[in-house]
Amino acid sequence: MPASKHAPGRHFLQIPGPTNVPDRVLRAIDNPTMDHRGPEFGELGKDILANLRRIFQTQGPVVIYPASGTGAWEAALTNTLSPGDTVLMSRTGWFATLWKEMADRLGLDATFLDTDWRRGADPDAIGDALAKDRDHRIKAVCVVHNETSTGCTSRIDEVRAAIDKAKHPALLMVDTISSLASIDYKHDAWGVDVTVAGSQKGLMLPPGLSFNAISPKALKATETAKLPRSYWDWRPMLAANETGYFPFTPATNLLYGLNAAVGMLLEEGLDNVFARHDRHAEATRRAVRVWGLEIQCAEPRHYSSSLTAVRVPEGHSADALRATILKRFNMSLGNGLGPLKDKVFRIGHLGDFGDLQLIGTLGGVEMGLRAAGIPHKTGGTQAAIDYLAGNA
Ligand code: PLP
Repeated sequence: MPASKHAPGRHFLQIPGPTNVPDRVLRAIDNPTMDHRGPEFGELGKDILANLRRIFQTQGPVVIYPASGTGAWEAALTNTLSPGDTVLMSRTGWFATLWKEMADRLGLDATFLDTDWRRGADPDAIGDALAKDRDHRIKAVCVVHNETSTGCTSRIDEVRAAIDKAKHPALLMVDTISSLASIDYKHDAWGVDVTVAGSQKGLMLPPGLSFNAISPKALKATETAKLPRSYWDWRPMLAANETGYFPFTPATNLLYGLNAAVGMLLEEGLDNVFARHDRHAEATRRAVRVWGLEIQCAEPRHYSSSLTAVRVPEGHSADALRATILKRFNMSLGNGLGPLKDKVFRIGHLGDFGDLQLIGTLGGVEMGLRAAGIPHKTGGTQAAIDYLAGNA
C-alpha cells in the first residue's frame, strides 16, 4: 500500500481491470506455497487445467503463463507464425494497436483495417480482404473481442462466418483479456484457433497470469512456425501439463487463486455470470443517457458488458473528473487511452460485482460530475436503481 493519508471506507476499484479480487480468492492465495514438483501440485494442476476449459468453452488445451496478457499475445503469434507472414488485424482501439505494434516488432507483416474506435471489428471488411487474398498470404486474422479502451465488443461469430464465406485458411486469433468470464465467448463453437486471456479482469484474480486456448489447427501450425520462441513454446508446456505440471516454476499461489475463482464462476454458472454483466452494463448505459453524456460505443450491437466508456462534453477534462472522483470519493475509474486521452472515462463493471457496488459506482460518478462542474442532468443513478430494482 502506498503511504498516503488513510481514506475511510472501501476503495472502489472501478477501472476495467485489474478488478476487485473476492475475499475467497484472496484467502486461497494466502496459503503456504507448495512444492511445484510434489504429488499434491499435479492434482491441483490437473483440476485447474480441466476446469479452465469450461471457462473458455473448449475441449482443447489451455496453457497458463506467469505473465500479463501481453505475454499471451506474444505466445499466440510466435507459436504459429513465421517471419514475414501477413496478419490481418482490426484497429478497434488502443489494445488492438499495441498488438499490431508487437506483430511489427516480431517481424510479421501486419495489415490494419481501420475503425473509428466507436464500434467493433467489421466482419465485411475482414471478409473482403480475405477474398482478395487469392494466394493466401494472410496467415492469421487477429481481433480483440472486447476493446477495453473503447467499450466496444466485436462479434467473433460474424468474423468466423466472414472467414468461412471467403473460404480462407487463415488462423483466427482472439484477445479476450477483458471479456473472458464476463461476456459470452465460445472458443470451439466460433472456430477460434488461439484465444488470448488474462487473469486480472473477469477471472477476478490479481494480474500475473495469462492464457492461450489452442485449437488443433493452431497446434499443427507450431510444427512449421519459424518465429523464435523459447519461454513461450507451447510444446514443453503441453507435455508437462499432461500430468498437471509446468516446464518451469509456476505462479503457485496465483494458481490457488485461479482454482478458487474458476470454482466460483462455475458455481454461479457461466450463463448467470454473463447475464449479470449484461444487466449491469444496461443499468450503466441508462444512467449515462440520463446524465446526457455520450457513450463512446456508437453501435448498440457492439456495446460492451464489461465496461462503459463515457465521453465528456467538448472543452471538459475526463482526467480532471477522474482526479476529483478519486480525491473526493475514493474511486478509481479508467482513463482515456491514446487518442481518447482526457476525452473519455471508463467505468469498469466486470468481475466480482453486485448491484450495490454498481449503484455506489454510479453514485460516485454522478457526485463527481457535479463536483467537477461537468454539465449534466441529475438522476442517472436513479435510472439505474429503477432498472435494477425492476429486473431481478
Ligand atoms: N488486451 C486487452 C483487451 C487489454 O485490456 C489489455 C490490458 O488491459 C491487454 C491486452 C494487455 O494486457 P496486460 O496489460 O495484462 O499485458
